[in-house]
Amino acid sequence: MEYEVVIGIEAHVEQSTRSKMFCSCSADFFGAEPNTNVCPTCLGMPGALPVINQRAVEFCIMVGLALNCKIARHTFWERKSYWYPDLPKGYQISQYQYPLCYDGYIDVDVRDLSTGNWTEECYRKRIRIRRAHLEEDTGKLTHLGSASFVDYNRSGVPLIEIVTEPDIASADEAYAYLNALRDIVRYLGVSTGDMEKGALRGEPNMSLRPKGSDTFGTKVEIKNLNSLRAVRDSIAYEIKRQTRVLDEGGQIKQVTLGWDDVRGVTVVQREKEEAHDYRYFPEPDLPPLVINDAWLESIRARMPELPLAKQDRFMRDFGLSGYDAVVLTRDRATAEYFERVVAALGPAEGERLKAVAKSAANWVTGELFRLMSAAGAEIHTLNVTPVQLADLIRLVDDKTINLNTARQVFEEMFATGQDARAIVQSKGLAQVSDEAALARVVEDVLTAHPQQVQSYLAGNEKLFQFLTGQAMKLTKGKANPQVLQALLKAALERRR
Ligand code: ADP
Ligand code: MG
Ligand code: ZN
Repeated sequence: MEYEVVIGIEAHVEQSTRSKMFCSCSADFFGAEPNTNVCPTCLGMPGALPVINQRAVEFCIMVGLALNCKIARHTFWERKSYWYPDLPKGYQISQYQYPLCYDGYIDVDVRDLSTGNWTEECYRKRIRIRRAHLEEDTGKLTHLGSASFVDYNRSGVPLIEIVTEPDIASADEAYAYLNALRDIVRYLGVSTGDMEKGALRGEPNMSLRPKGSDTFGTKVEIKNLNSLRAVRDSIAYEIKRQTRVLDEGGQIKQVTLGWDDVRGVTVVQREKEEAHDYRYFPEPDLPPLVINDAWLESIRARMPELPLAKQDRFMRDFGLSGYDAVVLTRDRATAEYFERVVAALGPAEGERLKAVAKSAANWVTGELFRLMSAAGAEIHTLNVTPVQLADLIRLVDDKTINLNTARQVFEEMFATGQDARAIVQSKGLAQVSDEAALARVVEDVLTAHPQQVQSYLAGNEKLFQFLTGQAMKLTKGKANPQVLQALLKAALERRR
């Protein structure tokens, strides 16, 4: 039988605020000794009182706005009771009845990534967002043999939980969704979005049903996914496994699965117990959360242009290919760098703007990315400013230097931060377009290679490249190639 997959994703985003959700301990616990980044509040000591982190509320609203959600203007905190050693209070402060953000959607571009190759072909999919609410993170448990260790450094770090409707219909769509969510939280500066470090966690719920059916099958939940690839591979694996079970007349058990990255298989973590009774009730130690107009508007006004909108604009206004638009908008700093190069080459509009943008895109995605990855450099710590790169591009455009020389000059700029013009002058790299000088070079080359000249005139046209190369060498690569080749052709014709 043919089946279709139904997927909904529950994601957790760990915020990069300065302090924790309800106390003033640092939210950046990376590298700290276990249990040093704690206080009575995040350790759950009796009588310690929580205080709301205003920035964390703003971050959640920003994510909600980016996901086209409605923002609840009056909401409150609830206690979600359960007992694990990594939750020192015995409850988590969360939101249940009235999430801060709800009823939204996100549009994502879905590409066939099965080959790992870039393809311009994609479709745009809308995935509805059920809710995005605020809560606090737990501590971290480590099990070693028969001993278990707990580290509360992470306890109380602000989290946003984002739940989609079951609108995701393939492993590639799940990949595209989490990829887009990661880009968004990075653009907003809300989180590092690093799945490998647990700052973004995505847990797919998935089920199969006969193609065309309108009821849902039994779902499983996949946990412990620490990369986008693991999300895609685990879903693909489960589709195959469940198809086999159903085809053999079996039934899917509702379980929680873990993903074994090494073996590439899912493993059962927990059979579904009785539904948890979390005994939610309003948190008595915190006031309700009221979002007034002025606050909401000030947050809205600070929203940056988001990746997909930027990508569409780059394609529309700059005429960039889908590939260029995606790689240039993947992070905000790169997009800004690129736009500053374009601006410095301007002012331009229409076709001229597209030409200018194309050469800026070529330089950024080509030479700049190449040198950055070789040096392990990051976009915000570069020696070369966008204005300096624009100056270099102009030297090529006005034929002061040729493209090959420009690449050498750029390497020097990248290393030292010097201006292109200064490097060209101090090294005497300016392109030779002077016809009299180049004509002398051509004569010298023809005199030095009489045999090749004879052979060329006898019909061996390939020797034209050889003679050009010899002339280039004499000018140390600085000759304007068009002028040089025209002169060479003319000189050879005169010898017929
Ligand atoms: P639970 O109560 O088990 O947490 P929810 O109804 O809260 O389940 O849904 C959790 C996530 O699972 C949501 O993203 C939702 O879209 C998705 N989901 C719900 N039912 C199914 C199903 N039968 N198949 C796939 N995904 C589902
Ligand atoms: Mg749920
Ligand atoms: Zn604390």
